[in-house]
Amino acid sequence: MKDLLNLEVLTKTFDDLSVGVGIFLVENLDDLKSIRYVYMNKVILYEMRKKKEEVAGKRIIDVAPEAYEHEVGLQVIEAYRKIASEGGSVNMGLVEYSNHVAAGKYECSVHHIKENYVYVMLRNVTELEKTRYELEQKNKELNEFAHIASHDLQAPLNTISSCIEIIEDEYQGKLDKKADKLLGFMSSVTNRMKNLIEALLDYSSTGQKKEMTLVDCNKIIEAIQEDLTAKIKETNTVIEVDGLPKVKGFKTALRLLFQNLITNSIKFSKPGIAPKIKISAKKQEAWTFAIQDNGIGIADEHMDKIFNVFQRLHSRSEYEGSGIGLAHCKKIIKLHNGNIWVNSQPGEGSTFYFTIPD
Ligand code: ADP
Repeated sequence: MKDLLNLEVLTKTFDDLSVGVGIFLVENLDDLKSIRYVYMNKVILYEMRKKKEEVAGKRIIDVAPEAYEHEVGLQVIEAYRKIASEGGSVNMGLVEYSNHVAAGKYECSVHHIKENYVYVMLRNVTELEKTRYELEQKNKELNEFAHIASHDLQAPLNTISSCIEIIEDEYQGKLDKKADKLLGFMSSVTNRMKNLIEALLDYSSTGQKKEMTLVDCNKIIEAIQEDLTAKIKETNTVIEVDGLPKVKGFKTALRLLFQNLITNSIKFSKPGIAPKIKISAKKQEAWTFAIQDNGIGIADEHMDKIFNVFQRLHSRSEYEGSGIGLAHCKKIIKLHNGNIWVNSQPGEGSTFYFTIPD
């Protein structure tokens, strides 16, 4: 044992690791109570709230008898025994453990060293879990805030719209040119704000309380084409669809995703050139969808930026829009555990790609 498990070498190698490492000797392969601590690094000693001298060479049953008294403790101890006699290793996954002083969740695996010897690796994920939970809560709060704020903004805005309509109706022909122009301006700004608020509402409610189903993407495209009939005709848009798959996902969200990408392809077309859009999908590790257009394209330096909320590359007078569409697409794709990106060159059209796990 001396040359194989030289304590000084072990100490120097493993003491300061951020994961817990411990070596055990199972003296009698049929007796769970015969298991002894050989070496425990600082992380494990801290989790046990023990000093090195209190455990080294001692039996678990003498140092931490409570480990034998609960299910998880026993499972881990049984894993030491099994791996010590049979070899190999076992990943115990997330193990919830508490003794008198410490409680928490650990990622735990047990590995064979040589006959009768095993080592265990422990990583305390309690803090990580807590942070993840807090982050989820914050995200939820943020979504709720966006939802409530946009929802509450709708009512006064509707009132303003109605007032404008009334003035337009009742004072038709009676207003001077300047007042007429101002009213027209107010009306278009209010409409833009309405669209923005609707887009924000959609964005904030994506992914809430919905269930994944098997979604036929061909049907989604058909429905969108129907919705956009007028726009497609007016712009002479040609949409070519290569047989698309059925994917597991959130139907309404996926429809919004395709709709955003298709309307962008129509909107950002080259002046005087009819938009041509090709929609296809390839099965790699996940389904990779491509939406290719022959539009104005996007410069390299803008390709990441456009997926952020309110990021637009053009003035409103050039192209109407809210700057939420692609941020929403990104949110939808994240919800499906996929990725979204774009390949493009100014003047050469753009291809938006996204993946959805099969
Ligand atoms: P919006 O379309 O409302 O401006 P988006 O978030 O959908 O907002 O898009 C952000 C920006 O990305 C757009 O303003 C535009 O500059 C650019 N963009 C999006 N789609 C395309 C496309 N198909 N071709 C060229 N530019 C695009």
